[in-house]
Amino acid sequence: MKYCKNCLTPESNPGTTFNEEGICKVCGYYQKEKKYVDWDKRMDEIKEIASWAKSKSNGKYDAVIGVSGGKDSLRQALFARDVLGLNCLLVNNPPDIITETGRKNIENIQNHGFDLIKYYGNPVVYKKIVLRALKEYGNPQKPSEYTIAAIPIRVAINFNIPLVIHGENSALEMGEPEKFTTKEDLGGSAIGFANSNTVQGGKASDWVGEGVTLSDLLPYQYPSLDEIKASGVHAIYLGYYLKDFNSFMNAKLGIKNGLSFRDESLYDLGRYHRYSALDANINQINGWIKHVKFGYGSATDRASIDIREGKITREEGIALVKEFDGRCTDRFISEYCDFLGISVNEFNEIIEKYRGKMWIKDADGKWKIDSPIWEQEPVNKNTDIKKVIRRLNAELGIVQDIE
Ligand SMILES: [Zn+2]
Repeated sequence: MKYCKNCLTPESNPGTTFNEEGICKVCGYYQKEKKYVDWDKRMDEIKEIASWAKSKSNGKYDAVIGVSGGKDSLRQALFARDVLGLNCLLVNNPPDIITETGRKNIENIQNHGFDLIKYYGNPVVYKKIVLRALKEYGNPQKPSEYTIAAIPIRVAINFNIPLVIHGENSALEMGEPEKFTTKEDLGGSAIGFANSNTVQGGKASDWVGEGVTLSDLLPYQYPSLDEIKASGVHAIYLGYYLKDFNSFMNAKLGIKNGLSFRDESLYDLGRYHRYSALDANINQINGWIKHVKFGYGSATDRASIDIREGKITREEGIALVKEFDGRCTDRFISEYCDFLGISVNEFNEIIEKYRGKMWIKDADGKWKIDSPIWEQEPVNKNTDIKKVIRRLNAELGIVQDIE
């Protein structure tokens, strides 16, 4: 496998390409563009957008924010209200199986003093299309990508609320900056949100069939650009306007504002921190699935971000990836299979069909990645990942160990 020379993004990451120096697109963006942004000017721009929203809302809600209650959405809500002075309506699309941490965090964000709508899609329909997404794409999280994109803007249009505020432009962060349809998306506009990441311009009609009709799929249907333009609703990415909108800073602010973290072992989570993907275990399962499909998991994503942000060295990142990538406790998988009504064996058989070409069998017949980063760039044996994790946690003011 070929990896970015700066971060640890592998060539198997969908949408990733490397330049002549072997640098991935996201690192290129960080080095060439993000560094030279005039952040004061962007702050002025977002304040102008906020004034525009207030002038349009006629004293009703100014902005809609889709929230899970996690660190990013907590920061979005507090920033929109306390810095921009917006009257916000929060919208939460609860996951199929919410974690205790997720439940506490939604309560916490409400208790900061917000109106909040819980938008539940039809669970019978949801289960059917999750099974299809699992079988047809090896991605049970795909339907949720549709609702995350569609529900906030749908609520904004229906309630006549002028602005939708998203967090990070994840297409940019995760290495798919070309997945846009409008030029505006390369600024702070998020009206092309549904074209980013796994949805990639997908329509709710993709899921029609097996007893599911188009009218069952409203929470999945992102409005057309024509409908958005006619409604006058605007959508933005907060991450575009704020220099320090990143998961580390958001976690730090989250702690100050009552955010609850996970308490599982890091080996159960397949990550080296406990402050993301808090409300549902499907995220952790997906990290494992991604590892099977593409030869890398959630620890690689995190390490690549932390390397770019200067939080860890490349060598520390490699050590962390080797230790945590692709791990997910069986407990999460069996709980999810119970929800879907299939056996763990059936689930594993489906995922196995998607195993990527970077996997080979070792001498004992066990799957291993062909030439992983830690074989290409062996880690110094003095690199102590426990120390690295403690250092990162200390920066956040928390004391947590691996187990
Ligand atoms: Zn990179």
